[in-house]
Amino acid sequence: MICCSIAANEREKVIEDMLRAKSKADLIEIRLDYISELNLDDIREIISRKPCPLIMTCRKKDEGGKFSGTEERRLEILKKCIEFGADYLDIELSSGKEIVSELIENKDNSRIIVSYHNFDLLPENIDNIYAEIKATGCDIVKAACMANSLPDNLRMFELIKKAKNEDINIIGICMGEKGEISRILNTAYGSYLTFGCLDKGKESAPGQISCEFLKHIYRADKLNLDGLKIYGLVGKPVSESKGYIVHNLMFKENDMNAVYLNFLVDDLKNFVDKFRDIVSGFSVTMPYKQDIMEYLDEVESNAGIIGAVNTVVLSEGKLIGYNTDYLGAVDALEEETGIEGRKALMLGAGGAARAIGYGIMNKNGRLIIVNRTSAKGEKLASELSAQYKNIEDVDWNEVNILINATSIGMMPDSNETPIDAGNLRKEMVVFDSVYNPPVTKLLKAAEQAGCITVSGINMFINQAARQFELFTKKKCDKEFMKRMVLEYVAQ
Ligand code: NAP
Repeated sequence: MICCSIAANEREKVIEDMLRAKSKADLIEIRLDYISELNLDDIREIISRKPCPLIMTCRKKDEGGKFSGTEERRLEILKKCIEFGADYLDIELSSGKEIVSELIENKDNSRIIVSYHNFDLLPENIDNIYAEIKATGCDIVKAACMANSLPDNLRMFELIKKAKNEDINIIGICMGEKGEISRILNTAYGSYLTFGCLDKGKESAPGQISCEFLKHIYRADKLNLDGLKIYGLVGKPVSESKGYIVHNLMFKENDMNAVYLNFLVDDLKNFVDKFRDIVSGFSVTMPYKQDIMEYLDEVESNAGIIGAVNTVVLSEGKLIGYNTDYLGAVDALEEETGIEGRKALMLGAGGAARAIGYGIMNKNGRLIIVNRTSAKGEKLASELSAQYKNIEDVDWNEVNILINATSIGMMPDSNETPIDAGNLRKEMVVFDSVYNPPVTKLLKAAEQAGCITVSGINMFINQAARQFELFTKKKCDKEFMKRMVLEYVAQ
């Protein structure tokens, strides 16, 4: 089940949000501690207008809440929730045995969730905490802990599985950006529910995802651990990437029990070690497209020559690396221009540049590379049999195709541009590999100068289509994918 947590500061706003949440969630949590000057009438009114089952929570400050009254008042509020017909009531284990027992003994028709929150870490003794909560005789155990690494999510899934084996209802969540994947996968592992927020900006805990996305993009309430295929994007940062929307909507369109997540990875080796048994494949982005190769069992030949991998597939226990960027870039360029014999100036010498440069040379283009770190640019030029130049030495009159393969201009730094607009001539085709935003400052300047422009979005669509086919072994409906990219990524 998906539970929408509502954290509004007055009764009418709570009711308004509650009615909006109805279509996006199976349950609603009302955070009473957010309501300023809360009175018992507010509680009666909110419960009487519930559109679906409610969890009533009045979180105290030392567990991340906002309630500032006395414990006596909080207990009174919680008891009233039972009297007014709350379906579920949340009480923290740290409230003490007396309070927890009193609520459990007097729960009437309400179900009692005994919760534990840790905003710093997932503690080593989480199993003991779980046992302590279980011993209270509550209906549902809840553990919400900050993830400091992706493997923390796996520890939370183990706890959920253990509770499930013991026939105990549990809500297990990791908080924070690194815990996001637990909010999507926990119900598949057996968590009683997952929490989401109504809208971005209305989160009641760090890392909460909107219920809309949980339900309609990730399909968190439909994923079945039996046969579930888990894919994702490995990188740092990943929060600005929108590829997950497209991949998830492709899975949905194809009615697949599959999900695509964002993996914010600090330690690549550790990720591969811990997640290779969990994932069926993943995309790779900055800064890992080259580093990933040493952890793979095989690298496909084009990716090997390029020296960068953006797609990894688990096949018969082996991790195999591919590069779909170079084909995506070539396809996107060829929609607007021929490449053979034309002079292409490429800015950048990272993973994307390697792939695009390889694509240009493969199509018999004449490639010049410029890069901030000249040693890296020279090395790439020599590997691709291209030319390296310092930016001051470029003769802009002979450039037919200008390619930005650096990350300059990418969100959130969309005000930046890699070159002075004065160098653009209307005869040039200007291709920006950056796809977020889809029309970068460079492309705007190129349009103004009368150039033909190619957005990174077009490269994105073509490379993502290849990824989908490698991941699923199914033919990609490119028209559908394009519509999804234009609707969700090219905003
Ligand atoms: P990368 O491997 O980290 O390489 C980044 C490149 O940008 C390096 O050449 C780096 O120069 C240069 N750079 C970064 N900041 C710079 C700055 N402030 N001034 C000058 N140069 C700077 O990253 P990547 O994977 O190649 O990605 C590069 C871009 O391509 C990203 O914006 C990414 O979104 C885009 N991309 C798009 C697609 C698509 O489908 N459209 C696919 C892949 C990548 P140094 O060598 O000096 O560090």
